[in-house]
Amino acid sequence: MHARKLTASRAVPAVAALAALAAGNAGGAPATAAPASAQDLPPLSAATSLLVVAPHPDDETLCCAGLMQRVVRAGGRVSVVWITSGDASELDMLLIEHRVFAPAKARDLAARRMREARAATGMLGVPAERQLFLGYPDRGVLKLLTSNRSTAYTSGFTGATAVPYSDALFAGHPYTGESLERDFAAVLTRVAPTLVLAPSPRDTHPDHRAAGLLATAAMARLAGGAQLRYWIVHGGEGWPSPRGLEPGLPLTPAPRIRGVTPAVFALEPAEEDRKLAAVRAYDTQMRTLAPFLLAFVRSTELFAANP
Ligand SMILES: [Zn+2]
Repeated sequence: MHARKLTASRAVPAVAALAALAAGNAGGAPATAAPASAQDLPPLSAATSLLVVAPHPDDETLCCAGLMQRVVRAGGRVSVVWITSGDASELDMLLIEHRVFAPAKARDLAARRMREARAATGMLGVPAERQLFLGYPDRGVLKLLTSNRSTAYTSGFTGATAVPYSDALFAGHPYTGESLERDFAAVLTRVAPTLVLAPSPRDTHPDHRAAGLLATAAMARLAGGAQLRYWIVHGGEGWPSPRGLEPGLPLTPAPRIRGVTPAVFALEPAEEDRKLAAVRAYDTQMRTLAPFLLAFVRSTELFAANP
């Protein structure tokens, strides 16, 4: 693999163009004039500082567990920032708690998902001090970037208007877009990443689209040569196919990123095994979504240079 030196501002398209993607216009051809060719991942070494941007606990493992392990093995640093703590999972609440939804239970579920995230990423070599939770509202991130930039958003799931989790990086910060952007910028300063893996703004989940937008805009403001690559989890109807655990099978490109050729990262069998163990650490999610989650345990992970 060889790096192409691109500054963040040249590597990402205009934020305005991404806004259309985040608003849901994500199908069809790319909305920017960026070339649709695959671009290699930068070399992974002891100098690598990888930051994985995860909208919810489990996304970082689904997208990137193989690459995370490889960076650790190369002597580099891996950090994960979770934008939300996954406190809007009503189906989980009903199935696991056997009771109707209630704000206190949503916060309990978030606490459980954060513990799972610590266990999963610990297995992948991420130390506790690089496991960074922002605690913004699940299912509310896109609202923060649009209608709630300066007025606090109220989570319909937890009832919170500010980060309610004591072990979040900035507990008590208000649920506004401006606060989220400041907190995310603080994470970039703290981590000093050389490579950022962010969700694609074409993802069908609004939190994922918003997190992709947030990362793209923040990286465009960042001086230096940090590189940005995109992954997708909610990639279109039926994807990934087939569902369930199929060891050794490569991941196919998602329908939602049609027109973009991602770089292919090949996992070694031991990396694939450890990815499976990390996915299984998400007990709350495995109970309801196992066939979908296991479909990401494949011999490859895909990272696109264009959103
Ligand atoms: Zn997610």
